Amino acid sequence: MRTRLDHLVTSALQRGSAVPAFTCYDFTTAMAVVAAAEEAGRGAILLVAPKTAATPNGLRLIGALRGLADAASVPVAVQLDHATDLQVMADAVAAGADSVLADGSALPYEDNIALVRGARALLGPDVVLEAELGGLAGDEDRAFGADQSGVAVAGLTDSALVEDFVSRTGAELLAVAVGNVHGKYKGEPQLRWDVLQDIAVRTHIPLVLHGASGIPAEELVKAAAMNVGKVNFNTELRTGVLATLQDQLPGHRSDGENLQGLLGHWNSSARTFAAKTLATLTR
Ligand SMILES: [Zn+2]
Repeated sequence: MRTRLDHLVTSALQRGSAVPAFTCYDFTTAMAVVAAAEEAGRGAILLVAPKTAATPNGLRLIGALRGLADAASVPVAVQLDHATDLQVMADAVAAGADSVLADGSALPYEDNIALVRGARALLGPDVVLEAELGGLAGDEDRAFGADQSGVAVAGLTDSALVEDFVSRTGAELLAVAVGNVHGKYKGEPQLRWDVLQDIAVRTHIPLVLHGASGIPAEELVKAAAMNVGKVNFNTELRTGVLATLQDQLPGHRSDGENLQGLLGHWNSSARTFAAKTLATLTR
């Protein structure tokens, strides 16, 4: 069912839970996520990469995700992830996205604020906006970007700026950089709980943790206690699906080029990951 992403996240936080968000490059993965959410009786978020939203076929995928979300028996939101281009944001919302991460984290501070305000002026009050303060290392769509555990290469969110940033952007959610990275971690992730704690006391809006693939479950469970209400997963989901496809491909080729059967394995791999993640984040 349709839901405002901020309401979904806030009500989860009130129960001590966070809502997982999964990058969907395709409809098979999205169907798996929604089926896992329905089985768990919990809400979920379908993320669309900006490169997806920048193509005509990607916009059609967003339309399909909209239909899937609305027909679900649990609250499901459709968010455009990491957008820097106002036209892409407008196109994605017109296609069916109900939330946008207006990501100016790579820009100078004032330009970051201006991007989020520009997104609000363009998209209006009904589109939920996430903003990001502090740069995350790594590449969202590929697994090889990050050099270290994250701390040394990523700019940590400056907690002293949080109040000003939140009030001037009017964002409903805030993505933070606390040692989390996109892609695979080299070595153990070193999450800076002290920085997260410092941020959490300075704003009431829910916080968002990106690059959660590779962060141990027992760490993730702690996040909701520090007002992290949304956790984004991409790499780990892709890794699982690709490993399954690699494993299943030869057999399905020799079984009469059985693409339908292979898609079934794709779906169940994504569904298993989504179910495990929902269970981890849910209290
Ligand atoms: Zn991200």
